[in-house]
Order: sequence, then structure tokens, then C-alpha cells
Amino acid sequence: NTVIDVHNISRVYNPETIPVYAVNNVHLHLERGEFTALVGPSGSGKTTLLNMIGGLDKPDQGNIMINGVDITRLSARQLIEFRLQNIGFVFQSYNLIPVLTAKENVEFIMLLQGVKKKERDERVKQLFKQISMDEKLDVRPAQLSGGQQQRVAVARALASKPQFILADEPTANLDSKSAANLLDIMADLNIKENITFLFSTHDQRVISRARRVITLVDGKIASDTAAVDITQPH
Ligand code: ADP
Ligand code: ADP
Repeated sequence: NTVIDVHNISRVYNPETIPVYAVNNVHLHLERGEFTALVGPSGSGKTTLLNMIGGLDKPDQGNIMINGVDITRLSARQLIEFRLQNIGFVFQSYNLIPVLTAKENVEFIMLLQGVKKKERDERVKQLFKQISMDEKLDVRPAQLSGGQQQRVAVARALASKPQFILADEPTANLDSKSAANLLDIMADLNIKENITFLFSTHDQRVISRARRVITLVDGKIASDTAAVDITQPH
């Protein structure tokens, strides 16, 4: 069951002046239920790649199939709709809306989807239980620790019931205890709900929790622990 199928994508910044090949001819195939880390030095293209898979940026070349839909061919309007239903995204700096409470931040997506109040309330309750934050529903982001904010961001990413979550350096601003806690929650969602995760990270302790590790160097996949060695007969 393929969730993400990236075919031959490239992204060039500043093509007119000094071109930067941020992502260069990347192929990537993710199956449902994967728990995969994207690693590589700073500037290797991790953010650019995640943004393109998440529909936040467009490749200059190639196709991105998500649940069988080529998102590079969607109009801006269709892409917004598709993202809302299919893709959960978690950012390094949480990006919660400061004037909304934790609950409202999570509920917001469901309002956009037209989910009825009763179902919204039930889903919010379930999500806050999953992130162990039942008692912080009505608190604004500024009153939460970084780790708590990131857990709310995970709940928000899950609010629309996507099959997968993309996370760009989700633990970069967290202390090691909060980072481990976030990974516990992600791993739990992966195992119990079969949510697919693709997360970029620099943190060796986070990398060690991944089942598959893909390394980017200079915009290209330099290694992939799931790769089959096609030079060996079998
Ligand atoms: P990473 O997430 O691995 O640090 P990025 O995807 O942020 O890598 O960056 C990849 C390369 O593209 C780097 O050389 C970076 O400087 C460059 N880059 C990223 N975003 C832009 C941009 N908006 N304009 C120009 N260059 C960019
Ligand atoms: P990361 O934490 O993934 O390494 P960066 O700090 O490289 O992210 O980039 C932060 C933001 O700056 C991103 O939105 C990226 O697109 C932009 N950016 C990165 N490199 C450049 C660049 N050389 N020129 C313009 N914008 C850039």
C-alpha cells in the first residue's frame, strides 16, 4: 500500500543567477505504516523535499504521487483541499496560532472540513488523550512548554485524519526529555493507528528510533537503509 511515490523531482533556487540544486533528481517510495527518518547535513535539501511532498512548494521537475494522486498537477485550489484531507505537517517551530487555545488550534482544521460539533468534541478529546494533554485544552500556546506545543502540533496534524505526517526537525527546539516524549507519541500513533511518519532530524537519538533512514547529501539520496542492493543477485 503505497502512500508516497516521489518520481524524479528536482528543485532549483535562483535559476537565473547562481542556481542552487536544493533537491536533485530524487526518487522516493514510502509504504503505509513506515516510520522513516530523513537525515543529512544542513543545506542538504531536507526542508525543500519535505515541503514539496507536503504540497507547500512545487518541484521544477518530476511527479509526487500521494495516495495515487499526482499533487504536482493540482491547481492551487485543489492542492489546498487535498492537503487538508490527506497531509499532516509538523514544523520545527510548532507554528500554532497564538490567539487560539490548544483545543481551538486542533479544532480549526475540523471546522474548515465542516465536521459537526459533537464529532469535533469527541475527536479533540481523543487527540488530547493521545498526546497526554487532557488538562491543557483551554490554554494558549504561549503558556505551554515547547514540548507541549509540539504535541499540540502533532494533534493538529492528525485532526483531519491524514494517513501520514511529515515533520521537519520536530525535536530541534526541544530538550532531550521532551524530544523522547514526542518520539514516544509518534511511535505509538505509528504502531496503534498505522500512521505513516517521515521526519527530518539531526538528532542521533531520534534517528535511532526510526525503522528506515534516508540520507540526503547535496540534494540527492546518498543512502537508504531500505534500498535493495541491485548489484547482488538473489
Ligand atoms: P536542509 O533542510 O537540509 O537544511 P534546505 O532544503 O533548507 O536544506 O536547503 C537546501 C539548499 O537550498 C541549501 O543550499 C539552501 O541554502 C538552499 N535554499 C533553501 N531555501 C532557499 C530559498 N528559498 N532560496 C534560495 N535558496 C534556498
Ligand atoms: P533548516 O532549519 O531546514 O536548515 P534553514 O534555516 O536552512 O532551514 O532555512 C529557513 C528558511 O530560509 C526556509 O524557509 C528556507 O527556504 C529559507 N532559506 C534557506 N536557505 C536560503 C537561501 N540560501 N536563500 C534564501 N532563503 C533561504
